Amino acid sequence: MLFSELALSEQLLQAVAEQGYQTPTPIQAQAIPVILQGRDVLAGAQTGTGKTAGFTLPLLQILHSQAIPQKPRPVRVLILTPTRELAMQVYESVRTYGKHLPFFAEAIYGGVSINPQIQKIQRGTDIVIATPGRLLDLIHQQHLSLSHVQHFVLDEADRMLDMGFIRDIRKIIALLPAKRQNLLFSATYAPEISALSEQILNDPVEIAV
Ligand code: AMP
Repeated sequence: MLFSELALSEQLLQAVAEQGYQTPTPIQAQAIPVILQGRDVLAGAQTGTGKTAGFTLPLLQILHSQAIPQKPRPVRVLILTPTRELAMQVYESVRTYGKHLPFFAEAIYGGVSINPQIQKIQRGTDIVIATPGRLLDLIHQQHLSLSHVQHFVLDEADRMLDMGFIRDIRKIIALLPAKRQNLLFSATYAPEISALSEQILNDPVEIAV
């Protein structure tokens, strides 16, 4: 399969070509079409499989197919990660794949000063990549609202549970609109992951690579 068969816009195909990618990885070939259809996804995928582009490319494509919202732009995509390092990596991927598109992304994580993050999100951002604790801090301080989120990604969900984030995840989900697309990525399928996916996902397409 070729990237050009995946119903992605020229701007995304160009960004992918500039990365030197020849063909979609198996997770990308399977996940991109179903995410573009708007389906929920439960994906078993380790780091190194290309999972980040597997959800980033179709979500950018969906945003690209919509009208640009009025200012200030509401957060339409929320990606939760277990660690600051992963949040920064996913942020860099979103910037790389979205570099020819007019969207804003911000990374939100703890362990650093909150004020620069407040200033950035106040300008309005389409995509937020966040660790749970700092995200909740910003919401509680009224700097961020999740009421317009259309797409919710839980990346490395098994590590999130291992790190004790389940209560924070539940709090965050309670703040999301009921009508939304949910994508859950996990390297392993412990029983806790099945329970979480049953709570979060709506008739998901299951993908394993
Ligand atoms: P990930 O599993 O998302 O952490 O991605 C692992 C690595 O694979 C990253 O360094 C990506 O730049 C790279 N990558 C992602 N998609 C492709 C692709 N289709 N072809 C070659 N490399 C890729």
